Amino acid sequence: MSNMKATYVVVGGGIAGVTCVDTLAILHPEESVLLITASSLVKNVSNVSFFAKTIVKFDVHETEASSLKRIHPNLTIVYDSLTHIDTVNKVVTTDGGILLEYNVLCICTGGIPKLISDSNNSKRILGIRDTESVHEFQSKLKSGRRMLIVGNGGIASEIVHATRGIQKVWVIRDDYISATFIDPGAAEFFQDTFKNKSAEETSASAVLRRHIFTEEDTLVSLNKDLKSAALGPDWYRKLESIRNETGEQELQIIYKVEVVSVMERDGEYPLEVELTNGQKIQCDFVISATGVIPANNFTWDCKPGIGLDGGLSVNEFQETTIKDVYAAGDVAHAAWNPGAHWFQLRLWTQARQMASMAAKAMHARITNEKILQDFCFELFTHCTTLFGYRIVLLGKYNGQGLGNNYEILLRTTPRLEYIKFVIQNGRLQGAILIGETDLEEMCENLILDQIDLTPFGDDILNPDIDIDDYFD
Ligand SMILES: Cc1cc2nc3c(=O)[nH]c(=O)nc-3n(C[C@H](O)[C@H](O)[C@H](O)COP(=O)(O)OP(=O)(O)OC[C@H]3O[C@@H](n4cnc5c(N)ncnc54)[C@H](O)[C@@H]3O)c2cc1C
Repeated sequence: MSNMKATYVVVGGGIAGVTCVDTLAILHPEESVLLITASSLVKNVSNVSFFAKTIVKFDVHETEASSLKRIHPNLTIVYDSLTHIDTVNKVVTTDGGILLEYNVLCICTGGIPKLISDSNNSKRILGIRDTESVHEFQSKLKSGRRMLIVGNGGIASEIVHATRGIQKVWVIRDDYISATFIDPGAAEFFQDTFKNKSAEETSASAVLRRHIFTEEDTLVSLNKDLKSAALGPDWYRKLESIRNETGEQELQIIYKVEVVSVMERDGEYPLEVELTNGQKIQCDFVISATGVIPANNFTWDCKPGIGLDGGLSVNEFQETTIKDVYAAGDVAHAAWNPGAHWFQLRLWTQARQMASMAAKAMHARITNEKILQDFCFELFTHCTTLFGYRIVLLGKYNGQGLGNNYEILLRTTPRLEYIKFVIQNGRLQGAILIGETDLEEMCENLILDQIDLTPFGDDILNPDIDIDDYFD
Protein backbone atom coordinates (compact mmCIF):
# COMPACT_ATOMS: atom_id res chain seq x y z
CA MET A 1 0.00 0.00 0.00
CA SER A 2 1.41 3.40 -0.94
CA ASN A 3 0.85 6.62 0.99
CA MET A 4 1.46 8.88 -1.98
CA LYS A 5 1.46 8.67 -5.73
CA ALA A 6 2.93 10.69 -8.61
CA THR A 7 3.45 10.21 -12.32
CA TYR A 8 7.06 11.35 -12.04
CA VAL A 9 9.17 10.68 -8.96
CA VAL A 10 12.66 12.22 -8.82
CA VAL A 11 15.16 11.43 -6.06
CA GLY A 12 17.93 13.87 -5.05
CA GLY A 13 18.21 17.64 -4.74
CA GLY A 14 21.49 18.12 -6.62
CA ILE A 15 21.88 19.63 -10.09
CA ALA A 16 20.57 16.45 -11.71
CA GLY A 17 17.43 16.12 -9.59
CA VAL A 18 16.54 19.81 -9.83
CA THR A 19 17.18 19.92 -13.59
CA CYS A 20 14.98 16.88 -14.05
CA VAL A 21 12.15 18.52 -12.07
CA ASP A 22 12.60 21.83 -13.94
CA THR A 23 12.51 20.12 -17.33
CA LEU A 24 9.42 18.12 -16.41
CA ALA A 25 7.74 21.36 -15.30
CA ILE A 26 8.22 22.71 -18.82
CA LEU A 27 7.36 19.50 -20.69
CA HIS A 28 4.42 18.30 -18.62
CA PRO A 29 3.16 21.05 -16.31
CA GLU A 30 -0.22 19.44 -15.71
CA GLU A 31 1.24 16.14 -14.45
CA SER A 32 2.20 15.34 -10.85
CA VAL A 33 5.89 15.40 -9.94
CA LEU A 34 7.30 14.35 -6.59
CA LEU A 35 10.81 15.19 -5.43
CA ILE A 36 12.44 13.25 -2.62
CA THR A 37 15.25 15.29 -1.12
CA ALA A 38 17.16 14.58 2.04
CA SER A 39 17.97 18.26 2.55
CA SER A 40 15.82 21.40 2.49
CA LEU A 41 18.49 23.10 0.39
CA VAL A 42 18.76 22.09 -3.24
CA LYS A 43 21.17 23.06 -6.02
CA ASN A 44 20.09 25.54 -8.62
CA VAL A 45 21.54 26.75 -11.89
CA SER A 46 21.58 30.42 -12.88
CA ASN A 47 23.32 32.84 -15.26
CA VAL A 48 23.31 30.31 -18.08
CA SER A 49 25.31 31.62 -21.02
CA PHE A 50 26.02 29.90 -24.30
CA PHE A 51 29.51 30.22 -25.83
CA ALA A 52 28.36 27.97 -28.68
CA LYS A 53 25.62 25.43 -29.40
CA THR A 54 26.90 22.88 -26.92
CA ILE A 55 29.24 25.00 -24.79
CA VAL A 56 27.31 26.33 -21.84
CA LYS A 57 28.54 28.16 -18.79
CA PHE A 58 26.41 28.59 -15.67
CA ASP A 59 26.61 29.28 -11.97
CA VAL A 60 25.50 26.82 -9.32
CA HIS A 61 24.09 27.91 -5.99
CA GLU A 62 21.92 26.55 -3.23
CA THR A 63 18.32 27.48 -2.71
CA GLU A 64 15.36 26.41 -0.57
CA ALA A 65 13.70 23.36 -2.11
CA SER A 66 10.31 24.99 -1.55
CA SER A 67 11.22 27.67 -4.11
CA LEU A 68 10.95 25.02 -6.86
CA LYS A 69 7.20 25.03 -6.35
CA ARG A 70 7.06 28.46 -7.95
CA ILE A 71 7.91 27.00 -11.33
CA HIS A 72 6.08 23.74 -10.87
CA PRO A 73 2.62 24.02 -9.34
CA ASN A 74 2.14 20.25 -9.39
CA LEU A 75 5.33 19.55 -7.48
CA THR A 76 5.23 17.78 -4.11
CA ILE A 77 8.39 17.74 -2.05
CA VAL A 78 9.12 14.95 0.42
CA TYR A 79 12.02 15.75 2.75
CA ASP A 80 13.35 12.26 3.27
CA SER A 81 15.84 9.70 1.91
CA LEU A 82 15.13 6.90 -0.51
CA THR A 83 15.79 3.51 1.09
CA HIS A 84 14.22 0.90 -1.20
CA ILE A 85 12.88 0.51 -4.74
CA ASP A 86 10.23 -2.08 -5.48
CA THR A 87 10.34 -2.19 -9.26
CA VAL A 88 7.59 -4.80 -9.58
CA ASN A 89 4.94 -2.75 -7.78
CA LYS A 90 6.62 0.54 -8.79
CA VAL A 91 6.80 1.81 -5.24
CA VAL A 92 9.70 3.44 -3.42
CA THR A 93 10.17 3.50 0.35
CA THR A 94 11.75 6.34 2.29
CA ASP A 95 13.73 6.31 5.51
CA GLY A 96 10.70 7.78 7.29
CA GLY A 97 8.58 4.82 6.14
CA ILE A 98 6.62 6.66 3.42
CA LEU A 99 5.63 4.57 0.40
CA LEU A 100 5.48 6.42 -2.91
CA GLU A 101 4.02 5.02 -6.09
CA TYR A 102 5.54 6.13 -9.42
CA ASN A 103 4.90 5.70 -13.11
CA VAL A 104 8.47 6.67 -13.97
CA LEU A 105 11.30 7.20 -11.52
CA CYS A 106 14.56 9.11 -11.86
CA ILE A 107 17.41 8.49 -9.44
CA CYS A 108 19.73 11.45 -9.00
CA THR A 109 21.43 10.63 -5.72
CA GLY A 110 24.86 11.83 -6.85
CA GLY A 111 28.12 10.64 -5.35
CA ILE A 112 29.85 10.28 -2.02
CA PRO A 113 33.47 11.44 -1.72
CA LYS A 114 36.02 8.69 -1.83
CA LEU A 115 38.13 9.02 1.26
CA ILE A 116 41.73 7.91 1.04
CA SER A 117 41.58 6.05 4.30
CA ASP A 118 38.65 4.82 6.30
CA SER A 119 40.73 2.59 8.49
CA ASN A 120 40.64 4.86 11.49
CA ASN A 121 37.59 7.00 10.61
CA SER A 122 39.60 10.07 11.53
CA LYS A 123 37.66 13.34 11.73
CA ARG A 124 40.86 14.91 10.49
CA ILE A 125 40.43 13.44 7.00
CA LEU A 126 38.04 15.69 5.13
CA GLY A 127 36.30 14.92 1.88
CA ILE A 128 34.90 18.11 0.41
CA ARG A 129 31.44 17.50 -0.93
CA ASP A 130 28.99 20.22 0.03
CA THR A 131 28.55 23.48 1.90
CA GLU A 132 28.78 21.74 5.24
CA SER A 133 32.13 20.17 4.44
CA VAL A 134 33.42 23.49 3.09
CA HIS A 135 32.50 25.15 6.44
CA GLU A 136 34.24 22.35 8.30
CA PHE A 137 37.28 22.80 6.09
CA GLN A 138 37.34 26.57 6.69
CA SER A 139 37.20 26.18 10.46
CA LYS A 140 40.01 23.60 10.40
CA LEU A 141 42.01 25.96 8.23
CA LYS A 142 41.86 28.66 10.92
CA SER A 143 43.42 26.46 13.55
CA GLY A 144 45.70 24.33 11.37
CA ARG A 145 49.37 24.91 10.58
CA ARG A 146 49.98 22.23 7.97
CA MET A 147 47.59 20.34 5.75
CA LEU A 148 48.10 17.54 3.30
CA ILE A 149 46.08 17.60 0.09
CA VAL A 150 45.57 14.38 -1.83
CA GLY A 151 44.25 14.34 -5.39
CA ASN A 152 45.00 15.97 -8.68
CA GLY A 153 41.64 17.11 -9.98
CA GLY A 154 39.93 20.49 -10.08
CA ILE A 155 39.04 20.46 -6.38
CA ALA A 156 42.56 19.81 -5.13
CA SER A 157 43.89 22.45 -7.54
CA GLU A 158 41.41 25.05 -6.32
CA ILE A 159 42.18 24.33 -2.66
CA VAL A 160 45.88 24.77 -3.30
CA HIS A 161 45.23 27.94 -5.23
CA ALA A 162 42.73 29.49 -2.84
CA THR A 163 44.39 28.90 0.53
CA ARG A 164 47.07 31.10 2.05
CA GLY A 165 48.75 31.31 5.43
CA ILE A 166 48.95 27.56 6.01
CA GLN A 167 51.65 25.14 4.98
CA LYS A 168 50.45 22.81 2.23
CA VAL A 169 51.83 19.47 1.18
CA TRP A 170 50.20 18.42 -2.10
CA VAL A 171 50.47 14.74 -2.86
CA ILE A 172 49.74 13.72 -6.45
CA ARG A 173 49.86 10.44 -8.32
CA ASP A 174 50.93 11.96 -11.63
CA ASP A 175 54.06 13.84 -12.53
CA TYR A 176 52.29 17.11 -13.27
CA ILE A 177 49.58 19.15 -11.53
CA SER A 178 45.82 19.24 -12.18
CA ALA A 179 45.94 16.15 -14.38
CA THR A 180 42.18 15.64 -14.61
CA PHE A 181 41.57 18.79 -16.58
CA ILE A 182 44.81 19.93 -18.08
CA ASP A 183 48.05 18.69 -19.56
CA PRO A 184 51.62 19.51 -18.54
CA GLY A 185 51.76 22.47 -20.94
CA ALA A 186 48.68 24.05 -19.42
CA ALA A 187 50.04 23.27 -15.98
CA GLU A 188 53.13 25.25 -16.95
CA PHE A 189 50.89 28.09 -18.08
CA PHE A 190 49.35 28.20 -14.61
CA GLN A 191 52.65 28.43 -12.79
CA ASP A 192 52.56 32.21 -12.92
CA THR A 193 49.36 32.35 -10.93
CA PHE A 194 51.35 31.07 -7.99
CA LYS A 195 53.66 34.04 -8.25
CA ASN A 196 52.56 37.51 -7.29
CA LYS A 197 52.83 39.32 -10.61
CA SER A 198 51.22 42.68 -11.11
CA ALA A 199 48.83 43.34 -13.98
CA GLU A 200 51.34 45.66 -15.63
CA GLU A 201 54.02 43.01 -15.58
CA THR A 202 51.52 40.60 -17.06
CA SER A 203 50.84 42.59 -20.16
CA ALA A 204 54.44 43.75 -20.57
CA SER A 205 55.90 40.27 -20.58
CA ALA A 206 53.35 38.66 -22.90
CA VAL A 207 55.31 36.72 -25.51
CA LEU A 208 53.86 34.44 -28.10
CA ARG A 209 55.24 30.98 -28.53
CA ARG A 210 53.98 28.28 -30.73
CA HIS A 211 54.88 24.62 -30.93
CA ILE A 212 53.84 21.74 -33.05
CA PHE A 213 54.78 18.22 -32.20
CA THR A 214 53.50 14.72 -32.43
CA GLU A 215 53.00 12.74 -29.33
CA GLU A 216 55.00 9.57 -29.66
CA ASP A 217 54.31 7.67 -26.53
CA THR A 218 52.15 8.65 -23.69
CA LEU A 219 51.44 11.82 -21.80
CA VAL A 220 54.62 11.17 -19.88
CA SER A 221 56.67 11.69 -23.02
CA LEU A 222 54.58 14.77 -23.78
CA ASN A 223 55.46 15.98 -20.35
CA LYS A 224 59.16 15.46 -21.02
CA ASP A 225 58.92 17.24 -24.36
CA LEU A 226 57.25 20.20 -22.80
CA LYS A 227 59.63 20.40 -19.92
CA SER A 228 62.79 20.18 -21.92
CA ALA A 229 62.08 21.65 -25.32
CA ALA A 230 58.98 23.71 -25.45
CA LEU A 231 58.31 25.36 -22.20
CA GLY A 232 61.35 25.22 -20.02
CA PRO A 233 62.62 22.63 -17.56
CA ASP A 234 61.37 21.99 -14.08
CA TRP A 235 58.93 24.86 -14.08
CA TYR A 236 56.95 23.27 -11.31
CA ARG A 237 59.72 23.85 -8.81
CA LYS A 238 58.83 27.54 -8.99
CA LEU A 239 55.43 26.82 -7.48
CA GLU A 240 57.18 25.74 -4.40
CA SER A 241 59.16 28.91 -3.95
CA ILE A 242 56.34 30.84 -2.27
CA ARG A 243 57.07 31.52 1.36
CA ASN A 244 54.78 32.70 4.13
CA GLU A 245 55.32 35.73 6.37
CA THR A 246 57.68 33.83 8.66
CA GLY A 247 59.76 32.68 5.72
CA GLU A 248 58.52 29.09 5.69
CA GLN A 249 57.87 27.41 2.38
CA GLU A 250 54.11 27.43 1.91
CA LEU A 251 53.66 24.74 -0.72
CA GLN A 252 55.47 21.47 -1.27
CA ILE A 253 54.39 19.20 -4.10
CA ILE A 254 55.25 15.51 -3.94
CA TYR A 255 54.85 13.84 -7.33
CA LYS A 256 54.14 10.24 -8.29
CA VAL A 257 53.20 9.02 -4.84
CA GLU A 258 50.09 7.77 -3.12
CA VAL A 259 49.02 7.60 0.49
CA VAL A 260 49.68 4.30 2.26
CA SER A 261 48.28 5.11 5.70
CA VAL A 262 47.09 7.90 7.95
CA MET A 263 47.71 7.47 11.66
CA GLU A 264 46.56 9.63 14.57
CA ARG A 265 49.38 10.27 16.99
CA ASP A 266 50.43 12.33 20.00
CA GLY A 267 52.95 15.02 19.29
CA GLU A 268 53.28 18.37 17.64
CA TYR A 269 51.01 17.33 14.76
CA PRO A 270 48.06 15.03 15.37
CA LEU A 271 48.36 13.08 12.07
CA GLU A 272 51.15 11.16 10.37
CA VAL A 273 50.70 10.24 6.73
CA GLU A 274 52.89 7.59 5.14
CA LEU A 275 53.47 7.78 1.38
CA THR A 276 54.42 5.07 -1.12
CA ASN A 277 57.94 6.51 -1.35
CA GLY A 278 58.40 5.83 2.37
CA GLN A 279 58.18 9.50 3.34
CA LYS A 280 56.22 10.33 6.49
CA ILE A 281 54.42 13.68 6.62
CA GLN A 282 53.10 15.17 9.82
CA CYS A 283 50.11 17.48 9.58
CA ASP A 284 46.96 18.79 11.25
CA PHE A 285 44.53 17.44 8.70
CA VAL A 286 44.19 15.79 5.32
CA ILE A 287 41.99 16.96 2.47
CA SER A 288 40.96 14.02 0.38
CA ALA A 289 39.91 15.21 -3.05
CA THR A 290 40.14 11.96 -4.95
CA GLY A 291 36.73 11.85 -6.61
CA VAL A 292 33.35 10.40 -5.73
CA ILE A 293 31.70 6.99 -5.61
CA PRO A 294 28.14 6.85 -7.05
CA ALA A 295 25.62 7.00 -4.19
CA ASN A 296 23.81 3.69 -4.50
CA ASN A 297 22.75 4.01 -0.89
CA PHE A 298 19.40 2.20 -1.15
CA THR A 299 18.21 -1.32 -1.88
CA TRP A 300 16.32 -2.86 -4.83
CA ASP A 301 14.01 -5.82 -5.27
CA CYS A 302 16.10 -6.79 -8.31
CA LYS A 303 19.65 -6.29 -9.50
CA PRO A 304 20.12 -3.29 -11.81
CA GLY A 305 23.09 -3.13 -14.22
CA ILE A 306 26.06 -1.49 -12.55
CA GLY A 307 29.08 -0.06 -14.41
CA LEU A 308 32.71 -0.66 -13.47
CA ASP A 309 32.72 2.75 -11.75
CA GLY A 310 29.88 1.64 -9.46
CA GLY A 311 27.28 3.82 -11.23
CA LEU A 312 23.84 2.68 -12.38
CA SER A 313 24.22 1.70 -16.04
CA VAL A 314 22.00 3.82 -18.26
CA ASN A 315 21.29 3.78 -21.98
CA GLU A 316 21.32 6.84 -24.26
CA PHE A 317 17.91 7.86 -22.84
CA GLN A 318 19.19 7.60 -19.26
CA GLU A 319 17.06 4.54 -18.55
CA THR A 320 18.62 1.95 -16.26
CA THR A 321 18.44 -1.73 -17.07
CA ILE A 322 15.12 -1.71 -15.18
CA LYS A 323 12.16 -0.40 -17.17
CA ASP A 324 10.76 2.98 -16.11
CA VAL A 325 13.67 3.62 -13.75
CA TYR A 326 16.00 6.34 -15.02
CA ALA A 327 19.20 7.75 -13.51
CA ALA A 328 21.19 10.93 -14.13
CA GLY A 329 24.23 12.76 -12.81
CA ASP A 330 27.03 11.32 -10.70
CA VAL A 331 25.04 8.20 -9.76
CA ALA A 332 24.72 7.15 -13.41
CA HIS A 333 27.18 5.23 -15.56
CA ALA A 334 26.94 6.07 -19.27
CA ALA A 335 26.68 2.56 -20.70
CA TRP A 336 25.72 3.48 -24.25
CA ASN A 337 28.17 3.54 -27.13
CA PRO A 338 29.15 7.22 -27.05
CA GLY A 339 29.83 9.50 -30.02
CA ALA A 340 33.46 9.95 -31.12
CA HIS A 341 33.91 13.18 -29.16
CA TRP A 342 32.03 12.53 -25.93
CA PHE A 343 32.98 10.68 -22.76
CA GLN A 344 31.63 10.69 -19.23
CA LEU A 345 33.23 12.87 -16.57
CA ARG A 346 31.28 13.57 -13.39
CA LEU A 347 30.69 17.30 -13.68
CA TRP A 348 27.83 19.79 -13.26
CA THR A 349 27.52 20.12 -17.03
CA GLN A 350 26.94 16.43 -17.51
CA ALA A 351 24.63 16.13 -14.49
CA ARG A 352 22.49 18.82 -16.10
CA GLN A 353 22.60 17.32 -19.59
CA MET A 354 21.81 13.81 -18.39
CA ALA A 355 18.95 15.00 -16.20
CA SER A 356 17.39 17.04 -18.96
CA MET A 357 17.67 13.99 -21.26
CA ALA A 358 16.12 11.78 -18.56
CA ALA A 359 13.17 14.17 -18.16
CA LYS A 360 12.56 14.21 -21.93
CA ALA A 361 12.70 10.41 -22.06
CA MET A 362 10.41 10.01 -19.03
CA HIS A 363 7.92 12.39 -20.59
CA ALA A 364 8.13 10.50 -23.89
CA ARG A 365 7.46 7.22 -22.05
CA ILE A 366 4.33 8.64 -20.39
CA THR A 367 3.05 10.26 -23.58
CA ASN A 368 4.09 7.38 -25.83
CA GLU A 369 6.29 9.50 -28.04
CA LYS A 370 9.54 8.68 -29.78
CA ILE A 371 12.62 10.75 -29.02
CA LEU A 372 16.25 10.97 -30.03
CA GLN A 373 19.26 11.42 -27.81
CA ASP A 374 20.06 15.08 -27.23
CA PHE A 375 22.63 16.77 -29.47
CA CYS A 376 24.78 17.78 -26.48
CA PHE A 377 26.08 14.19 -26.21
CA GLU A 378 27.88 14.65 -29.53
CA LEU A 379 30.63 16.68 -27.91
CA PHE A 380 32.26 16.66 -24.49
CA THR A 381 32.31 20.23 -23.22
CA HIS A 382 33.27 21.70 -19.91
CA CYS A 383 33.60 25.35 -18.93
CA THR A 384 35.21 26.15 -15.66
CA THR A 385 37.55 28.55 -13.94
CA LEU A 386 40.89 27.35 -12.70
CA PHE A 387 43.42 29.57 -10.98
CA GLY A 388 41.34 32.56 -12.06
CA TYR A 389 41.30 31.74 -15.79
CA ARG A 390 38.37 30.65 -17.93
CA ILE A 391 38.93 27.11 -19.19
CA VAL A 392 36.97 25.48 -21.96
CA LEU A 393 37.61 21.80 -22.61
CA LEU A 394 36.26 20.26 -25.79
CA GLY A 395 36.10 16.74 -27.18
CA LYS A 396 39.20 14.57 -26.64
CA TYR A 397 41.09 17.50 -25.15
CA ASN A 398 43.81 15.29 -23.72
CA GLY A 399 43.84 12.81 -26.61
CA GLN A 400 41.63 10.44 -24.57
CA GLY A 401 41.18 7.19 -26.49
CA LEU A 402 43.03 8.42 -29.58
CA GLY A 403 45.96 6.02 -29.22
CA ASN A 404 49.44 7.35 -29.94
CA ASN A 405 49.00 8.77 -33.37
CA TYR A 406 47.81 12.32 -33.06
CA GLU A 407 49.30 15.76 -33.35
CA ILE A 408 49.18 18.59 -30.86
CA LEU A 409 49.24 22.23 -31.94
CA LEU A 410 49.98 24.65 -29.20
CA ARG A 411 49.88 28.40 -28.86
CA THR A 412 50.60 29.98 -25.55
CA THR A 413 50.90 33.57 -24.45
CA PRO A 414 52.12 33.58 -20.87
CA ARG A 415 49.52 34.79 -18.38
CA LEU A 416 47.06 35.50 -21.19
CA GLU A 417 46.03 32.42 -23.13
CA TYR A 418 46.84 28.78 -23.73
CA ILE A 419 45.38 27.09 -26.78
CA LYS A 420 45.88 23.44 -27.53
CA PHE A 421 44.44 21.62 -30.53
CA VAL A 422 44.43 17.82 -30.67
CA ILE A 423 44.45 16.78 -34.32
CA GLN A 424 44.15 13.34 -35.86
CA ASN A 425 44.12 12.66 -39.62
CA GLY A 426 44.11 16.42 -40.20
CA ARG A 427 40.88 16.88 -38.23
CA LEU A 428 40.33 18.53 -34.87
CA GLN A 429 39.41 16.00 -32.16
CA GLY A 430 39.66 18.14 -29.07
CA ALA A 431 40.86 21.44 -27.64
CA ILE A 432 41.86 23.17 -24.44
CA LEU A 433 41.15 26.90 -24.45
CA ILE A 434 42.44 28.86 -21.48
CA GLY A 435 41.85 32.59 -21.18
CA GLU A 436 39.52 34.76 -23.26
CA THR A 437 40.40 33.08 -26.57
CA ASP A 438 37.07 33.61 -28.33
CA LEU A 439 37.66 30.37 -30.22
CA GLU A 440 34.94 28.26 -28.61
CA GLU A 441 32.43 28.34 -31.43
CA MET A 442 34.98 27.78 -34.15
CA CYS A 443 36.45 24.79 -32.32
CA GLU A 444 33.00 23.35 -31.73
CA ASN A 445 32.27 23.54 -35.47
CA LEU A 446 35.64 22.13 -36.45
CA ILE A 447 35.17 19.13 -34.18
CA LEU A 448 31.53 18.45 -34.97
CA ASP A 449 31.91 18.90 -38.73
CA GLN A 450 35.31 17.16 -38.88
CA ILE A 451 36.58 19.71 -41.37
CA ASP A 452 39.90 18.78 -43.00
CA LEU A 453 42.44 21.25 -41.64
CA THR A 454 45.36 20.02 -43.74
CA PRO A 455 45.06 22.86 -46.33
CA PHE A 456 45.48 25.47 -43.59
CA GLY A 457 48.73 23.97 -42.40
CA ASP A 458 50.35 25.78 -39.52
CA ASP A 459 48.21 28.88 -40.00
CA ILE A 460 45.45 27.30 -38.03
CA LEU A 461 47.08 28.63 -34.87
CA ASN A 462 49.10 31.50 -36.28
CA PRO A 463 48.49 34.38 -33.87
CA ASP A 464 48.82 36.91 -36.72
CA ILE A 465 46.00 35.37 -38.68
CA ASP A 466 42.43 35.46 -37.52
CA ILE A 467 41.55 31.81 -38.04
CA ASP A 468 37.86 32.57 -37.68
CA ASP A 469 38.06 34.36 -41.05
CA TYR A 470 38.76 31.07 -42.81
CA PHE A 471 35.41 29.72 -41.83
CA ASP A 472 33.19 32.77 -42.22
C1 LIG B 1 33.87 19.72 -3.82
C2 LIG B 1 33.39 19.51 -5.22
C3 LIG B 1 33.55 20.52 -6.13
C4 LIG B 1 33.11 20.35 -7.44
N1 LIG B 1 33.30 21.37 -8.32
C5 LIG B 1 32.83 21.24 -9.56
C6 LIG B 1 32.97 22.29 -10.48
O1 LIG B 1 33.56 23.33 -10.19
N2 LIG B 1 32.46 22.14 -11.72
C7 LIG B 1 31.82 21.00 -12.08
O2 LIG B 1 31.35 20.93 -13.20
N3 LIG B 1 31.68 19.96 -11.23
C8 LIG B 1 32.17 20.05 -9.98
N4 LIG B 1 32.04 19.01 -9.13
C9 LIG B 1 31.31 17.81 -9.57
C10 LIG B 1 29.81 18.12 -9.44
O3 LIG B 1 29.56 18.64 -8.15
C11 LIG B 1 28.96 16.86 -9.63
O4 LIG B 1 29.27 16.26 -10.85
C12 LIG B 1 27.47 17.25 -9.65
O5 LIG B 1 27.16 18.01 -8.52
C13 LIG B 1 26.61 16.01 -9.68
O6 LIG B 1 25.28 16.40 -9.51
P1 LIG B 1 24.22 15.34 -9.00
O7 LIG B 1 22.93 16.05 -8.96
O8 LIG B 1 24.34 14.09 -9.80
O9 LIG B 1 24.68 14.93 -7.54
P2 LIG B 1 24.79 15.74 -6.17
O10 LIG B 1 25.07 17.15 -6.40
O11 LIG B 1 25.72 14.92 -5.34
O12 LIG B 1 23.34 15.65 -5.56
C14 LIG B 1 22.80 14.45 -5.08
C15 LIG B 1 21.73 14.78 -4.07
O13 LIG B 1 21.04 13.59 -3.73
C16 LIG B 1 20.90 13.52 -2.32
N5 LIG B 1 20.79 12.10 -1.96
C17 LIG B 1 21.77 11.16 -1.93
N6 LIG B 1 21.25 9.98 -1.58
C18 LIG B 1 19.93 10.17 -1.38
C19 LIG B 1 18.85 9.32 -1.01
N7 LIG B 1 19.04 8.03 -0.78
N8 LIG B 1 17.61 9.87 -0.90
C20 LIG B 1 17.40 11.19 -1.17
N9 LIG B 1 18.37 12.04 -1.52
C21 LIG B 1 19.62 11.53 -1.64
C22 LIG B 1 22.15 14.18 -1.78
O14 LIG B 1 21.96 14.62 -0.46
C23 LIG B 1 22.28 15.34 -2.77
O15 LIG B 1 21.53 16.43 -2.37
C24 LIG B 1 32.50 19.14 -7.83
C25 LIG B 1 32.35 18.09 -6.91
C26 LIG B 1 32.79 18.26 -5.62
C27 LIG B 1 32.65 17.12 -4.65
